[in-house]
Amino acid sequence: MDRDAYLKEELCRLESEGNLRHLTPAGHEGSHVIAEGRKMLNLSSNDYLGLAADVSLRREFMERLDPGDFVMSSSSSRSLSGEFPVYGQVEDKLSEMFGKEAALVFNSGYHMNLGILPAVAGKDTLVVADKLVHASMIDGIRLSAAGAIRFRHNDMTQLGNILEKEHGRHRRIIIAAESVYSMDGDRADLRMLCEFKKRYDNVFLYVDEAHAFGVFGENGLGLAEEQGCIRDIDYLCGTFGKALASMGGFVVCSRTVREYLINRMRPFIFSTALPPVNWRWTEFLLGKLSGMKDRREHLAMLSARLRSGLEDLGFGMVSDTQIVPLTAGESKVAVRLASELQAAGFFVLPVRPPTVPEGSSRLRFSLTAGMTAADIAALTDAVRKITAL
Ligand SMILES: *Cc1c(COP(=O)(O)O)cnc(C)c1O
Repeated sequence: MDRDAYLKEELCRLESEGNLRHLTPAGHEGSHVIAEGRKMLNLSSNDYLGLAADVSLRREFMERLDPGDFVMSSSSSRSLSGEFPVYGQVEDKLSEMFGKEAALVFNSGYHMNLGILPAVAGKDTLVVADKLVHASMIDGIRLSAAGAIRFRHNDMTQLGNILEKEHGRHRRIIIAAESVYSMDGDRADLRMLCEFKKRYDNVFLYVDEAHAFGVFGENGLGLAEEQGCIRDIDYLCGTFGKALASMGGFVVCSRTVREYLINRMRPFIFSTALPPVNWRWTEFLLGKLSGMKDRREHLAMLSARLRSGLEDLGFGMVSDTQIVPLTAGESKVAVRLASELQAAGFFVLPVRPPTVPEGSSRLRFSLTAGMTAADIAALTDAVRKITAL
C-alpha cells in the first residue's frame, strides 16, 4: 500500500493545472544566476539594492570583523542566555535611524508577522486588513483571537466606512497594510492610513515595509519616510532579507510595545535567535544605508524604463516601483512565457495561485540596482518578441 497516495494525487492535480512548484538549484554571479546550464539575468531576487551580489561589501565586512564576533549560533532564545550585546546595539541603531522609542528584531519577516498580531490583538480587537497583505500577516491574523475584516486592496473609501461602523463596537482596531505590495508592485497611501488612525483614539496602524525598506525615502527607511509619516505608524515593520541583503524582521515601536512583545510574542520567545555574526552584518549594512542614494536612484530609473517599455507594448501597469508584474491570466500561459524568457536569458518565474488569485497568474520582474539600462532594454525587447507570437 502506498501510504503517500493521497499526497501524490494532490501533486498530480497541481501539475495538471500548471501550479506544481519545483526548487531549481542556481549559482549566483553578480546580477545573474546560472541554472540548468544557462546564465540568466536574475529577475526573481529581492536584492533590490544589489548589495547581496556585491562581493566588495563582503570583503570589507570580513576585514573589519573581529574574529571573536564570528559566532554562528546564539545557542538559545534571547529570553535565556542568548542575548548577545550586538542585538541591543542593532536595535538601538534602528530606533535611532527611525527616530522612534524602540525597536525589536525577529528571526525573519515571517516570524514578525506571524507573532506580533497574536501577541497584541486579543478577543477585544478587530484587525482590518488590506485584501492583498502577505501570507505571513494572514497567518498572524488566523493565529490571533481577534476578529478580522478585509477591505478591497487600497480602497480607502471602504476602509473609512468600515472604521466608522466598527470603531464603537470593539475595544481596539488595528489597520494592517503593506507599503509596497509584492504582487502588483503598487504603493499604499500611508498618509491616508495615518489620517484614519488619528481620527479615532482606539485605532492603531500596522505597516509592513518589506519591499520598501532600503528602497524608498531619503535615508532608505521606506515609504513612511518618503511620505513623512513614520511617527504615526504604531507598528512599523520591515525585513532585512530583501534590500538589506541580510536576514531578520523588525518592528520600530514604543518602548511599551517592545517590552510587551518580549513577554508575549511566541515566535520571539520560543526560537533561537539569529547568529550574532549575522547581526554584525546587518549592523554593517544599516550603517551604509543612508549613503546608498545612488543605488536607489539608479533602481528607480531602471524601474521607470521597464514600466514604460511594457506599457508601450500594450501591457496595463499598476506598478510604480521596482516590482513590475506582467499579467498572463492562466497559470499555463504564465509558465510558458516564463520558460521562453528563461531560454532568452532572463530568469523570471511564474507567480501562480495560491500566491495570487485564480486566473491572475503573472510574471513578476524584480529589478535590482546591480542591473544596467542595457539589461532593461534587452528584457523589454525579449518580452516584445515572445508576446508578439
Ligand atoms: C518577504 C515578506 C515577508 C517575509 O519576510 P522574510 O524575512 O523573508 O521572512 C513579510 N512580509 C512581506 C510583505 C514580505 O514580502
